Amino acid sequence: MLTATRPAVDLGDVRNVGAVTFGGGAIERLPALVAARRSQAAAAGADTRAVFLVDEYFSRGGDLVRRLGSETGDPVEFVSTREEPTTDDVDRLTARLRKDGVSAPATIVGVGGGITLDTAKAVANLLTNGGTAAQYQGWDLVRVPAVHKIGVPTISGTGAEASRTCVLTNPASGLKLGMNSTHTVFDRIVLDPDLTATVPRSQYFFTGMDAYLHSVEMLAGAHRHALGDAYAREAIRLCREVFLDGDMMAPAARERLMAASYLGGCAIAHGYVGVLHPLSAGLSVVLGLHHCVANCIAMRAMEPFYPDAVAEFRRMSAAQNVQAPPGVARDLPEARRHAIREAMLLHERPLTNALGRDFRAILSPERVGAMLDLL
Ligand code: NAD
Ligand code: ZN
Repeated sequence: MLTATRPAVDLGDVRNVGAVTFGGGAIERLPALVAARRSQAAAAGADTRAVFLVDEYFSRGGDLVRRLGSETGDPVEFVSTREEPTTDDVDRLTARLRKDGVSAPATIVGVGGGITLDTAKAVANLLTNGGTAAQYQGWDLVRVPAVHKIGVPTISGTGAEASRTCVLTNPASGLKLGMNSTHTVFDRIVLDPDLTATVPRSQYFFTGMDAYLHSVEMLAGAHRHALGDAYAREAIRLCREVFLDGDMMAPAARERLMAASYLGGCAIAHGYVGVLHPLSAGLSVVLGLHHCVANCIAMRAMEPFYPDAVAEFRRMSAAQNVQAPPGVARDLPEARRHAIREAMLLHERPLTNALGRDFRAILSPERVGAMLDLL
């Protein structure tokens, strides 16, 4: 039976990306999109330079950088993906741009995975808002609109291209939290599935599963409504086609996963994740594991919470022959296991969404200890 929903928490306005260009070869439109921003800036007597923040993978060869529409004088920075972005990384990059006299560029173009897209979003917020990145970690703390920004994902799954956040770790406090704001949403995105052909298979699987897991956790939570559900259900349907029906990296599968990633990002803007993402965040903060592989590891402890999704995830993993590394938390000293639980419990909104207000009692030290043994 259908029941009407009334969200328990006001999530505020949900802004969608301003414009989406989708399809194989869409990247060829990027130079014209950047040129249009330059013309607008010239007409206003403003800085006509564009800033390009590009995943370091593309510094190693290929001709992608040449095809982005950069001109002499434009800053082109390669973003390291060895570690996930920190507030310090974003502060340093913003300071470097300011030192080079770039404080109000015509646009910032982020080209890469979630790390690069989130870095572009954060730098765009900081250039107009001033201060340091840590000041804006939280909900609706970004005061004024960011610099215009264009996102070009080169790997699919996180939904960073669609979402209203950019996830940063604060090394001083250990807090892993985004700048949740309507100002964080990209003005434009270019979704070209041709760009994901070179992603290593295991990375493609781990990141792709993020779209599935965002949607699974949304649909299992208390905070639901028909619009969020619609995005999430379609994202899951597409993921089933991609991961259960032939090669996940065939051209048609890459196109579907790019759509699923976008829809999963739209879904999560209307709600919250659940138990998996907080555990994954604990693994990231304490063990330094990257988000998407940490999710796939954390799935091993999710049977009591999401039994059907765990079974389906196992089928997907077997069909594509990709497994996350086992045993990451088994022989850890007690202090580090405790730290994982503490980092997990910081995520109050998702845990309340999944387990209700008593989530701390449910996730007792013994229970979380037993979960870690399964990883
Ligand atoms: P990533 O940025 O971590 O990149 C993963 C790896 O793939 C890197 O080695 C990168 O160089 C490589 N790569 C990217 N594109 C490639 C290509 N076309 N060919 C070959 N190699 C390529 O990727 P991710 O998994 O998309 O992003 C994870 C990040 O996203 C984390 O920092 C996480 O916190 C963040 N995230 C953000 C949101 C959001 O809403 N903003 C949501 C979930 C996760
Ligand atoms: Zn995620």
